[in-house]
Amino acid sequence: MQDVDIIIIGAGAAGLMCAVEANKRGRRVKVVERAAKVGQKIRISGGGRANFTNRYVSNGDFLSDNPRFCISALKRYTPGDFIALVEKHGISYHERDHGQLFCDGSAQQIIDMLLDEAGGVGIQTATNVMNVAKGEHRFTVETDRGSFTAQSLVIATGGPSIPKMGSSRFGYDMATQFGLKVIDPRPGLVPLTFDADTLAALDGLAGISLEATVTLGKVRFTEALLFTHRGLSGPVILQISSYWRQGDTITIDMLPGADVYQHLKLAKEKHPKKAVRTALAQRLPTRLAQRMVEWADCDGRLAETSDKTLRLLAARINAWRITPNGSEGERTAEVTVGGVDTKELSSKTMQAQSVPGLYFIGEAVDVTGHLGGFNFQWAWASGYACGQVA
Ligand SMILES: Cc1cc2nc3c(=O)[nH]c(=O)nc-3n(C[C@H](O)[C@H](O)[C@H](O)COP(=O)(O)OP(=O)(O)OC[C@H]3O[C@@H](n4cnc5c(N)ncnc54)[C@H](O)[C@@H]3O)c2cc1C
Repeated sequence: MQDVDIIIIGAGAAGLMCAVEANKRGRRVKVVERAAKVGQKIRISGGGRANFTNRYVSNGDFLSDNPRFCISALKRYTPGDFIALVEKHGISYHERDHGQLFCDGSAQQIIDMLLDEAGGVGIQTATNVMNVAKGEHRFTVETDRGSFTAQSLVIATGGPSIPKMGSSRFGYDMATQFGLKVIDPRPGLVPLTFDADTLAALDGLAGISLEATVTLGKVRFTEALLFTHRGLSGPVILQISSYWRQGDTITIDMLPGADVYQHLKLAKEKHPKKAVRTALAQRLPTRLAQRMVEWADCDGRLAETSDKTLRLLAARINAWRITPNGSEGERTAEVTVGGVDTKELSSKTMQAQSVPGLYFIGEAVDVTGHLGGFNFQWAWASGYACGQVA
């Protein structure tokens, strides 16, 4: 039985950051990781370049049952703090739309940086946790490669999305074991799918991408939309998917800022002999324009098409109401929405209110960021907060 000060289960973004900070305080840290390598999700993130943070972070960029919970940790560890670390390690990076920061090279640089910062910490990979128990003052973690005891136990096992990468529900199981509530987990940042009839109506559109505004209740995003063979994807759909629940209808504006009816009406007055699809293709990709007029059953000349039909066609482009039949699910979701209920945790330290010494950080907690580097910023910030005290 090895005795340490802190056991961290999970060597992902949050667990590694926590290890770095606790190590700086001179704490004896043991990290236990199930996978053969640390930081697997960092490695594949941002298309292999890791969108490691976002310049503009506010609590409005996060979903949670308790939207103010994340504020304290995010204030104490900011994007600027992480950028300073990246710069200290000479990692070159660039900014894309909406303040998203990516490595110029490989995401592996971020993993190497964290491992370098955590120098001296015992990280044990390919290790399965068999049992966790709490005595009066210490936790005992039994694994298939030895047992450990510690005063503090940090659960940093992320969410269950992309199970083939070894993701697990371990964090939720731990919460349940210690009597903490878990907010129902569901896939987020995930493509949405359509039923067979809708797919037939959209046949041939897969691969088309355009800027669109998607609205669900009070939530609205404007980013790229992508037609797929099974439904819709692209950043704008991934963003809205985190808010979407089975049965919800989303509204899609495929020409934000343009009044399609006015455009068609004007075209009809000026060029009545023009085909409806040609007039529409001035604004939309040709294949999409063609499919939309076929779908609205108005593939003729403008002069032959009633204003009522033009209005219907325009409504399908400016305010297409569609009810997805599902999502691609955990298999491809970038994150899991929900997790350990934040009411159970201290927003300053991430410690469970009812179990002294037990901490939850990162994606395992009911804090989920929008697309754009926010999930990593939450992992860094919550790992940092915990690393100061655990
Ligand atoms: C394809 C993809 C791309 C992404 N791109 C971005 C991006 O560019 N920017 C961004 O901000 N976010 C991105 N994300 C989300 C981001 O990766 C996660 O939100 C973040 O990694 C969460 O950090 P974490 O430490 O909580 O969990 P993770 O990084 O998932 O780490 C959890 C660790 O715990 C280990 N573990 C799990 N169960 C056990 C167990 N029972 N015992 C021991 N160890 C266990 C796992 O193997 C893993 O190493 C992406 C996610 C995916 C899937």
